[in-house]
Amino acid sequence: MDDFFDNKIDFLKGVGPQRAKLFNQELNIYTYYELIRYFPFRHEDRTQIHPIAELEDEMPYLQVKGQIINWETAGEGFKKRLIATFSDGTGSLELLWFQGIQWQLKNLKSGVEYLVFGKPQFFNGKFSLVHPEIELVTNLEQQIGYLQPVYNLTEKLKKKFITSKIIGKIIQGLLEIAYNQIEENLSEQIIQAQKLISRRDALVQIHFPKNANWLKHAKNRLKFEELFFLQLKLLHQQQNKKIRYKGQLLTQTALLTQFYTEHLPFELTNAQKRVVKEICKDMASGQQMNRLLQGDVGSGKTIVAFLAMLMAVDSGTQACLVAPTEILAEQHYHGLKEFTDKMGITIDLLTGSTRTKDRRVLHGRLENGNLKILVGTHALFEDKVQFENLGLCIIDEQHRFGVAQRSKLWNKNPEIVPHVLVMTATPIPRTLAMTLYGDLDVSIIDELPAGRKPIKTAHRYDAHRLRVFGFIKEEIKKGRQIYIVYPLIEESEKLSYKNLMDGYESIARAFPEAQISILHGQMSSTDKDYEMQRFIRKETQIMVATTVIEVGVNVPNASVMVIENSEKFGLSQLHQLRGRVGRGGDQSYCILMTDVKLSKEAKVRLETMVRTTNGFEIAEVDLKLRGPGNMMGTQQSGMMDLIIADLAKDAHILQNAREVAKKIIEEDMPLKKPENQALRLYLQKSAKQESYWSRIS
Ligand code: ADP
Ligand code: MG
Repeated sequence: MDDFFDNKIDFLKGVGPQRAKLFNQELNIYTYYELIRYFPFRHEDRTQIHPIAELEDEMPYLQVKGQIINWETAGEGFKKRLIATFSDGTGSLELLWFQGIQWQLKNLKSGVEYLVFGKPQFFNGKFSLVHPEIELVTNLEQQIGYLQPVYNLTEKLKKKFITSKIIGKIIQGLLEIAYNQIEENLSEQIIQAQKLISRRDALVQIHFPKNANWLKHAKNRLKFEELFFLQLKLLHQQQNKKIRYKGQLLTQTALLTQFYTEHLPFELTNAQKRVVKEICKDMASGQQMNRLLQGDVGSGKTIVAFLAMLMAVDSGTQACLVAPTEILAEQHYHGLKEFTDKMGITIDLLTGSTRTKDRRVLHGRLENGNLKILVGTHALFEDKVQFENLGLCIIDEQHRFGVAQRSKLWNKNPEIVPHVLVMTATPIPRTLAMTLYGDLDVSIIDELPAGRKPIKTAHRYDAHRLRVFGFIKEEIKKGRQIYIVYPLIEESEKLSYKNLMDGYESIARAFPEAQISILHGQMSSTDKDYEMQRFIRKETQIMVATTVIEVGVNVPNASVMVIENSEKFGLSQLHQLRGRVGRGGDQSYCILMTDVKLSKEAKVRLETMVRTTNGFEIAEVDLKLRGPGNMMGTQQSGMMDLIIADLAKDAHILQNAREVAKKIIEEDMPLKKPENQALRLYLQKSAKQESYWSRIS
């Protein structure tokens, strides 16, 4: 980015103050730099001319060449339209306009050749092109053989008659004067090794490619560049953090060993052992731990968290565990209390429904250090909650908390920042994790406890409900417990509630001999807890619930998860829900109920669930279906600013970019080598926009 590129677009050829204002407001484009980086989202293939006789249904945008035979207007008012019959000798089709009719009427001619561009639609036995682009062949001869860029337009731009073509012309004008000003920002070595084209060529070819191959190279180069600088930034941040934040020395392991040998209820899996070691090493390193613990549902993250807390307590500090819901916080509290009671360690629970009186006592015990472990919800983030010496902070199910909240916890210890362990059960595709959590170290529990039988998953239509009920009865006879989950209906809480209650009634009718619990978001937390406890104590056999049970709930005796209207759930949600079963030694089942009518995407989701229980595989499919913008947590990271790279599709480029960035950070930070001066210059120039980089110089 040069000073040249900081120029305002206002006086660029074809722009002018009025259009400039539109570009500012509608596209957030102010400078040459921003304009040149307004990349087309696709190109129209103007290299081919299609014979009308060979048109088929469902064809993309295409080009035909021929003459207009006749035209007429039809209809009145808003139904008024202009219909022209267009023929190329092989056949004919209709050109249709609903707007700008007067203007078209003035310009249409017969007996001359036109090139017409549009997407054919088949209607009433005829093909038609609605609002096609149409130009006289004489004007256009030189343009045949082009890949024409198509730019995103807003409604307002369209109203002001700014077309994709106009934007293209303006950018073409800019490229003419800017070409020599475009500076390379990657080193010769990188360009050679990655087989990239130059930045100049890339910026020209991305808009006006000579052919499909050039376009491919241009995209590749710009994606690499984008991901490379993002990774360079993240990795450098990571390195900086390590240098900047000193961590508490939590080195005592006597309690851990005691618990391990006397009270641990099962053998840890190898993956758990490895992760515990990683955490121990971090906490004893003298630097602050900032670790992400990824483990599929049921992989046993809680025990790992507890072992880490033991170390913190052992070394004279306090620990806290934050969960996203009250149910989950309570469950963690009850589960951990069994352990801490055996170890003689104090523990307490703080949620939104903790009474003020109890709170005051709790605050006091936290501040004087009598209370060692605090479990809670986001109520824990409040400023009033102060610790004597917080040493470790664990956040369960990270995706529910924002980065800002995470950092609030850091401030809970003004002396020295606490260690942070973030746990997530929503596996994130590797590409996304690298970008999202580039600043965190990652531990992965990639092994389920021994003896777990993979959950059997089936998709059943509503018509088979009786058979499903029969199956549930059999399972209840065997002493198992059942979840039946209903979706939240987004438009209305009332509808969701009704849906759930209707479900509850039909279940009660179908299983007169069973005891049934019910759980939904509108119940008070006391009631929720009561119902949950009844289910845990096996007093009820069926739990009818909304997605409040989605996260973390642990009842090992529950072996069947029935999800009603399962087409309404996203993949990660289905996976989370399924993870509520298969937690004991019994064979577990997940039954996905749907109507027969299913969208294409819903079918993919259901097929994926039936095919695999691997959370990472499911996350990959999810990313492909939904795109990174809709994945949890992406909004908070810089990656939403990506303008050309696509994390779902460009995994291998990201991987390369990350490796190259890593190497540079290791070998030459802060960029002193001559060959890295292009990088350095580019980073310094972008520092104007991002204060972060100013520290590098
Ligand atoms: P998640 O990773 O989903 O939070 P949990 O920590 O809730 O999983 O563990 C799920 C279940 O597995 C719990 O009942 C827990 O006691 C049990 N568990 C955890 N680790 C092991 C192990 N190594 N062997 C046997 N059971 C285990
Ligand atoms: Mg958990």
